[in-house]
Amino acid sequence: MNEKFTGIVLFIRPHREKDSLVKIFTREFGTKMFFVRGLQSPNHPLKKHLIPLTEHRYWGTINQQGLSFLKEGQTHNLFRSIQSDPFKQAHAAYLSQLVDASIDDNSEDQQLFDIFEAALCSLNEREDARPIQLLLQLKLLRRFGLRLNMNSCVVCGSSQKIEDFSMTHLGVLCHNHLDTDPNRMRLSYKQIKILQLFNEIKLNQLGHVSISDQSYKRIDELIFMIYHEQVGIKLKGESYLNQLYKVADQLKVSKIEGT
Ligand SMILES: [Zn+2]
Repeated sequence: MNEKFTGIVLFIRPHREKDSLVKIFTREFGTKMFFVRGLQSPNHPLKKHLIPLTEHRYWGTINQQGLSFLKEGQTHNLFRSIQSDPFKQAHAAYLSQLVDASIDDNSEDQQLFDIFEAALCSLNEREDARPIQLLLQLKLLRRFGLRLNMNSCVVCGSSQKIEDFSMTHLGVLCHNHLDTDPNRMRLSYKQIKILQLFNEIKLNQLGHVSISDQSYKRIDELIFMIYHEQVGIKLKGESYLNQLYKVADQLKVSKIEGT
């Protein structure tokens, strides 16, 4: 059936010699794979509407199962700052993979689409991508059936003297119950406060946040560990993000040594 719809391009995969398969998260029909004949040729009319991590209005044929087809596109948002900043782009790519993993293909989910769209708008506008990523990672955990218990001790329910996080219990421990998990994460007071805050707030409530690189690193390790061990997914975009930050750290060190 011919339809008009809005979509964000998730990825493009070459198909045969000149064609491509394009996965688009559509607001109206969920994530769908489109077959685009001849997209690899340089002057293809749909090329500018099929750039990963950009948003467009489309006109095309939607099939409930199998491949769908595109006729025309109209640019809605190119997220230029994401396209031109390798860090923002890497964060956005990782988040697009996470969103894609959290939803079944061909099932409409406007709420998730709106969250993803708002996250891309925020990434595009803000300097630092890390708070947006953290917020979305925590939010999406619920779609995999997990919810972190950040406000009261998982053993006694007390919200006083919260001092650490337990991976085994997926929640916080108070001072009296630290020894119930010998492998507790040994987070700092500030890191726990950050997790408590980010676990509660929505994207539009995110103001200016000042978090040290060290805290981001520790929290990142924890969240990725939850995704690996409890959800059971490890995404390609994660390794790329790690490499990118490693190179940036090395450049910082050589700059300091050079001065
Ligand atoms: Zn307790």
